[in-house]
Amino acid sequence: MDEKNKGKELQKALCFTQPHIADAQPELTQQAARFCEDYKAFLDASKTEREAANEAERRLLHAGYRPLQRAGAALQPGDKVYYNNRGKAILCATLGKRPLDAGVRLTAAHIDSPRLDLKPNPLYEDHEIALFKTHYYGGIRKYQWGATPLSLHGVIYRKDGSKAEVCIGEGAGDPVFCVTDLLPHLSAEQNKRTLADGLRGEELNLVVGSLPYPDETLKDRVKLRILELLHEKYGITERDFTRAELEAVPAFKAADVGLDRSMIGAYGHDDRVCAYTALCAEIEEREPEYTTVCILADKEEIGSVGVAGLAGDCALHFLGCLADKQSADLRQMLQNSKCLSADVNVAFDPTFPDVSDQRNTCCLNRGIVVTKYTGARGKNGTNDASAEMMSLITGIFDAAGIVWQTGELGKVDLGGGGTVAQFLANRGIDVVDVGVPVLSMHSPFELVSKLDVYMMYRAFTAFVSAK
Ligand code: MN
Ligand code: MN
Repeated sequence: MDEKNKGKELQKALCFTQPHIADAQPELTQQAARFCEDYKAFLDASKTEREAANEAERRLLHAGYRPLQRAGAALQPGDKVYYNNRGKAILCATLGKRPLDAGVRLTAAHIDSPRLDLKPNPLYEDHEIALFKTHYYGGIRKYQWGATPLSLHGVIYRKDGSKAEVCIGEGAGDPVFCVTDLLPHLSAEQNKRTLADGLRGEELNLVVGSLPYPDETLKDRVKLRILELLHEKYGITERDFTRAELEAVPAFKAADVGLDRSMIGAYGHDDRVCAYTALCAEIEEREPEYTTVCILADKEEIGSVGVAGLAGDCALHFLGCLADKQSADLRQMLQNSKCLSADVNVAFDPTFPDVSDQRNTCCLNRGIVVTKYTGARGKNGTNDASAEMMSLITGIFDAAGIVWQTGELGKVDLGGGGTVAQFLANRGIDVVDVGVPVLSMHSPFELVSKLDVYMMYRAFTAFVSAK
């Protein structure tokens, strides 16, 4: 071998180049496109955490899952059980051949996304326009939410305790709502604001009506007309807004993006792209070696707090109930468990190259992202997976032909973020972050690649079926 070829051989043996999935596995392009048709349907049916939990429960019941009962017969390998946590989070499991003391294979994603929530006293009239006051939920760039059609989703409890379910702006012919913005002709002063301040929190007011109630002797007649319409449709009064959870989200449907239809633009890929793919893999697993558990959690975008967030004990309650049913030792079960914390990561954006370390950021179409650590200001608030866990998980992926890359949430000193990984790791479970690269994260119209979505599904399948 001459010296020139020796160098080439050496390079091939020692260096790594991240492949494009379409080059590495060209047959996947069509499969991914087919797979993503149902993903788009899931997105359109799941614009809020409640709707995502509903849709997941519907699919679980269809697949033969039964509610987990504390009493009753012991669980057998292959049994499929689930728990719907207050209509806002789903925990489901397929019992494995090994006892629970051997640990479970856990996948955890979140089903809440940034949005505009209505305030407890939302409705007012100003200069003959009726509006709803909002308080945004999660990290949004407020200027992105002006002048775009929004739909309204959620529940209202009437004084008698009965529930009205609301979904306006999704059906064909439905009215939609919007936040107004200034015209360029008059925005000279607004243009001097910083971008973060482009639209302010108290300016995110939803336009909901403009016709007066036909009695000129009354005040606030447009507001009254809106209340009349709401009363006709839902039987509610103004006071009932205090007993409501109403969320304004982008009204448009998930759509193919690009002439090659290689991407999907939609609201809420973060993190329904991981929730959907994890749920599909969980549902399809029939006889796992280890018990598989899939958690679709709420409140990740505001710190995973509360009764349906993973900083709390809801996962422990579910796992503890499974352990009790098999008289397993919960502590041993937790310590032997392995978890994929599934959440999106920032994809390299050629329009904004400066925010990423190009050697350590993930790219569209180059596979799922295995993220060793997230966090900010020196890895604060991260799980920071061990080399041992990275070795175990990437070994499973390599054996299954999964195309995976690494990622970081931007340049070291620029910002950062966190996921649910730390909360599961704090319970003594080994965790690695995995996910799908996303462009325009947390915007009303986020972008993912179909090949990455499909690869994520295959990665979860490999993980839950690993011996
Ligand atoms: Mn997320
Ligand atoms: Mn997020």
